[in-house]
Amino acid sequence: MIGFNHGLTGGLIAHFLPLPVALPLALASHFLMDMLPHYGIPNSQRDKSSFWKIFFVIDAFATLGLAIYAILDNHVDMFLGGLFATMPDYIWVGRIIKTRSFNLSNNTNKFTKWHVKIQGYERPWGIWVEIPLALILFYIVIILLW
Ligand SMILES: [Zn+2]
Repeated sequence: MIGFNHGLTGGLIAHFLPLPVALPLALASHFLMDMLPHYGIPNSQRDKSSFWKIFFVIDAFATLGLAIYAILDNHVDMFLGGLFATMPDYIWVGRIIKTRSFNLSNNTNKFTKWHVKIQGYERPWGIWVEIPLALILFYIVIILLW
């Protein structure tokens, strides 16, 4: 699932719950959301797809934008919630930068193997789950609750 949706979900959780409860829940929300149908194309196609690359670079900057906005506007609790909810994907970000490839198959690490395995409903049509979800979460977190 896109970082933008993970981050907003973490912010939502941290808005309603005290941090000692919110942060582990935000982290857990990452894996629960990854189990939902979401956008994805086969790893072998990712480096050939300009859409994939552009989509995830935009997602990375949009998510970073949320983080900066939360800090500048003194919503430290929501920033931390978002940080914990997006954290498991930093392993991928690091790997994409290091290998200069969006192909995230060939995992030898137990955690990354599991993280891929739970995303069984990653499909191209999942973009029609991600985009409406992003709009709804953005509306709730940034417009209603901020
Ligand atoms: Zn993930």
